[in-house]
Amino acid sequence: MKKHNFSAGPCVLPQEVLLKASEAVMDLNESGLSLIEISHRSKDFIDVMEKAKALALELLGLEGKGYQALFLQGGASLEFLMVAYNLLENKAGYLNTGTWSEKSIKEAKLFGEVIEVGSSKDENFNYIPKGFTVPEDIDYLHLTSNNTIFGTQIKKFPSIKAPLVCDMSSDIFSRQLDFSQFDLIYAGAQKNMGPAGTTLVVVKEDVLGKVSRKIPSMLDYKVHISKDSMFNTPPVFAVYVSMLTLEWLKDLGGISAIEEINNKKAQLLYSEIDLNPAFKGFAKVEDRSNMNATFNLTDDKLKDTFDALWKDAGINGLNGHRSVGGYRASMYNALSLESVGVLVDVMSEMERKG
Ligand SMILES: *Cc1c(COP(=O)(O)O)cnc(C)c1O
Repeated sequence: MKKHNFSAGPCVLPQEVLLKASEAVMDLNESGLSLIEISHRSKDFIDVMEKAKALALELLGLEGKGYQALFLQGGASLEFLMVAYNLLENKAGYLNTGTWSEKSIKEAKLFGEVIEVGSSKDENFNYIPKGFTVPEDIDYLHLTSNNTIFGTQIKKFPSIKAPLVCDMSSDIFSRQLDFSQFDLIYAGAQKNMGPAGTTLVVVKEDVLGKVSRKIPSMLDYKVHISKDSMFNTPPVFAVYVSMLTLEWLKDLGGISAIEEINNKKAQLLYSEIDLNPAFKGFAKVEDRSNMNATFNLTDDKLKDTFDALWKDAGINGLNGHRSVGGYRASMYNALSLESVGVLVDVMSEMERKG
């Protein structure tokens, strides 16, 4: 039986996407060839890449606005350094909201001065710093829109003069934003878009070409743009499955439609966390994420009871990250409202047992 998959990443994908992907692995478009045995320079694959890029820009509302979409490799972790390689000349501002922000800061420091404009480390990253000031003379400000591990999410983005860069790995395509406020967005595919192996980068072309250092070809956004994301062999399977997921999202009605469902899922789970005395939330209420809900048992002695209950209910991937402990329910786009209902039922049962 298919599990209710609350895994933080890689994670749940739409069933119909998995089915179509498995068919393409056997035979792409009745060509007599598998998706993963054709040339990436073949028309069949070039069409896939073009469609994936176009869908990404269309869903984000960024078509014809000077942006380019790239499907790169190396994960969001490589973007931590590529962003700095391509954009950091003197100094950059970083908002430190958790493990992933810290990793991006570490890489940026290799290229220039990093100004930490705010940090929530003092409370183990259970909130989003607010009211911070951003120096005017920075090359860019880097934010992490959703903190996958701690379960916090930026709801309001600062309006600043400098270019805005955002790691959206765990909430891209999940909620409607004015995406044109960002100059560079990146996201590892494996949280809300597809399998691990590719990273979507959406970049406004006019922020590039301003640093004085020489950039190795594979790390240069301009090189990837000039080669239509095919400078070297792209991760064909990951790009294909991402394309299918973006098609699924478009057919569903796009980001505004999925946002409505995501809001329902989050409301259902958070109201259970708030009202059920057996549980307490980790992240501050006003900053909590609609993608990753972090919570704990009020009485840790009931851990074995709760773990047995959710596993019996067919739930997968509920354990919290080691730096937070407790539980984390990841509710990415492809997780159904019904799966959240199953988790909430198990939590209510804990209340009766507690
Ligand atoms: C998972 C994650 C990453 C790391 O992604 P990789 O593709 O494994 O490098 C970076 N940032 C955020 C916000 C994430 O959730």
